[in-house]
Amino acid sequence: MKDLQRDTLCIHAGYKPGNGQPRVVPIVQSTTYTYESSQEMGDLFDLKAEGFFYTRLGNPTNDCVERKIAALEGGVGAMITSSGQAASLLSVLNICTAGQHMVCSSAIYGGTFNLFFKTIKEMGVEVTFVPPAASLEELRAAMRENTRCVFAETLSNPSLVVTDLELFAQAAHEHGVPLIVDNTFPTPINCRPIEFGADIVVHSTTKYMDGHAVQVGGVIVDSGKFNWDNGKFPALTEPDESYHGVVYTKQFGPAAYIAKARCHLMRDLGAQAAPMNAFLLNLGLETLALRMERHCQNAQKVAEYLQSDPRVSWVNHPGLPGNPYYALAQKYMPHGSCGVVAFGIKGGREAAQKFMDSLELASVVTHVADLRTCVLHPASTTHRQLSDQQLQEAGVPADLIRLSVGIESLEDILADLKQAIEKAGKA
Ligand code: PLP
Repeated sequence: MKDLQRDTLCIHAGYKPGNGQPRVVPIVQSTTYTYESSQEMGDLFDLKAEGFFYTRLGNPTNDCVERKIAALEGGVGAMITSSGQAASLLSVLNICTAGQHMVCSSAIYGGTFNLFFKTIKEMGVEVTFVPPAASLEELRAAMRENTRCVFAETLSNPSLVVTDLELFAQAAHEHGVPLIVDNTFPTPINCRPIEFGADIVVHSTTKYMDGHAVQVGGVIVDSGKFNWDNGKFPALTEPDESYHGVVYTKQFGPAAYIAKARCHLMRDLGAQAAPMNAFLLNLGLETLALRMERHCQNAQKVAEYLQSDPRVSWVNHPGLPGNPYYALAQKYMPHGSCGVVAFGIKGGREAAQKFMDSLELASVVTHVADLRTCVLHPASTTHRQLSDQQLQEAGVPADLIRLSVGIESLEDILADLKQAIEKAGKA
């Protein structure tokens, strides 16, 4: 069958059991795989044959999940990683190394900001941050001769900025470099960035993809569409001496990027996902489409309620018609964006604190995109390392409350919010 719908892919893609095989993707909790001859194993090492030989480089459980996510995003291949951070790091390092440069939207997750602002910089990669609403001219101006990629989030955490994917892709492609998009918040259920020009998609699978808060993980998806043969990416188009002189574009064709990520970076850096985590992630993926629908419905109603409450000073959710990103959200995520709503209540920081302390159903956690409603004050937690100026640039004002609306009954979620806002008002 061809062109299955996304909700069907969530359940069936990546694994087709044969006669008498387990119906559910099995956990292959083994580091290693046996072969009858060393020649057969040698062929695997030489990339002449396909198969598993060591779990750092590939594992049957991980493989099923990788195939499923690649199908959901519409890519040619995927590689799951030990965390979303590892996925972001490897996605860049695969094509951009010391002495080179990348352009990045400033509206990104705080952890990714640190990674690019500090760690990748210390590794010799220069990063230019651009405003998320940068024009084509501004994006062009940020490019340098040694720029090797552009990075953005479809829908940023926690500022909920919607990136104009087609614009960013145009700027990147004019310069002969790929656009890497972190699609964690919308998930491929609500947006497939590859359809809008993204070349590489990354995720923190820790979030909606898992949805149950039981594993930390990431994934890199290769669209297979970028032409690496433009002279800027010799690591993909010239022999890799550390891997028997393989030329990734010749050996793997459109899957060159993801093959290199595995053969080179996963081999050397070893940020692989544990098979048990891949199994848990797969359980989450099976219900992703259903959960996203409910998250989005609940979040829309919660955002509308917050907007109508005079004790709330501002509300940010791209599904609200007055939102500055409403039009872009309608274009890129017409069926819903995500379950996250950001807002501030009158009384600033102190009232926000009181509000959070008063919640009974929603839990105060660092996590987001869980099936349980949860809430966070980024300025005092995940983003506390950022200066006021950086907070402002990242679109995370000090009074911002990030509410991750779960899939509980809407009635119960609203009742909890109302009683907590009531108490915060009496602070
Ligand atoms: N990207 C986004 C958008 C995130 O929200 C996060 C974590 O919150 C990450 C990447 C990092 O993922 P992880 O925590 O799985 O390393």
